[in-house]
Amino acid sequence: MTINAARLQSHFEAMSLIGKLGETGTCRPTLTKTEMEAFKLASSWMLEAGMTTRIDNFGNLVGRLEGTHPELPVLMMGSHLDSQPYGGRFDGVAGVLTAIEAVTKLTEQGIKPQRTIEVISFADEEGWRFNKGLFGSRGILGRLEEGELDRTDKEVITRRKALIDFGCDPDKFKESEYAPGSIHCFLELHIEQGPVLDLANKPIGVVSGISGPLWWTVKLKGMAGHAGSVPMPIRQDALVGAAEIILALRHIATQIPGAPTVGTVGTMNVFPGSRNIIAEDVEFTVDLRDIDLNRRNTYEAQLRGQIEAVCRKHNLTYSITEDWNSEPRYCADWLKQIIHAQCTHLNLDAPELMSGPFHDAMALSYATDYAMIFVRCKDGISHNPLEFASYEDLALGAEVLYGTMVEVLGREV
Ligand SMILES: [Zn+2]
Repeated sequence: MTINAARLQSHFEAMSLIGKLGETGTCRPTLTKTEMEAFKLASSWMLEAGMTTRIDNFGNLVGRLEGTHPELPVLMMGSHLDSQPYGGRFDGVAGVLTAIEAVTKLTEQGIKPQRTIEVISFADEEGWRFNKGLFGSRGILGRLEEGELDRTDKEVITRRKALIDFGCDPDKFKESEYAPGSIHCFLELHIEQGPVLDLANKPIGVVSGISGPLWWTVKLKGMAGHAGSVPMPIRQDALVGAAEIILALRHIATQIPGAPTVGTVGTMNVFPGSRNIIAEDVEFTVDLRDIDLNRRNTYEAQLRGQIEAVCRKHNLTYSITEDWNSEPRYCADWLKQIIHAQCTHLNLDAPELMSGPFHDAMALSYATDYAMIFVRCKDGISHNPLEFASYEDLALGAEVLYGTMVEVLGREV
């Protein structure tokens, strides 16, 4: 093992104290004092690795190891240090800390790369505070959408105000953007957040691609009425409609056994929300993902057909708003080959697998070649204080990341 596993573990342990929730949980919202504390700690390690550090106008923490040929496009690595409100210690953190370890080891080995290396902790990957994620990674590529600065959190603080309070200048986003062609490639290590590696008893996986999520908000409208008097046959019960649509989604997503398709209804609002009133309005979200876009499109059409049929049956009206729609993004073959070679070198039998969750790498995929290394997480649990990856597995992942980085750098020497 080339990387320093003990140092890596101590970094994880120190980082887990910032925003600590209960025994093993983390609450580190984006653009808060807690995240700033995490940035300061990570910055101190970046400085030890010989990097300069800055926080850009999107709220990204950027560590930079200047190459001997700084005109070359940068090798970028990283992930995020923000967490879910009831999150774990490894989601995102793993990608930042292993990247810092890889650069620290490079410096210790006396290797001076031609190409500049940047390690980034991206702002607001998680997306729950302002209800839209991948903010920093989309931001640096000029891929923000209209109105994103006006989005508010639960305390009605706008993203703009949160950025300014964090020391960023939203009027100077352009200065923090990367020109086309200025990123050579992007590498992200992440815990799997699913059970595939754990079930296969493999510590490391090579990601084939990130399946694209389709996000909808569906609104059903029926007719309120007294729960005690309106006869069943003439009811326009929006909640009964929603229930049938949820089951239809489940049937659609499971029609090919073993396929990686997943469909979820995760939130629902019911109006008026009284035990003795028939539900008039129901609003719920739909999340549909697949690595095969054709199949996902087919399922989307099936779901639209089901919603239409259910609403006709119960005399409801409906609307579907598309909140997010991204196609699957595949990892670069040349990077996957390097990662596979590193795994083989370490006697690791590393399977290829799809990522259901999206990551900062998905945003980067629109600007550069990318690859991801997955580290096994226990029982696939994530976005939960019970999230767990062993320090042995994380060290193996860091070693694979280090070897991959060196190989990418070495190709142009
Ligand atoms: Zn993450």
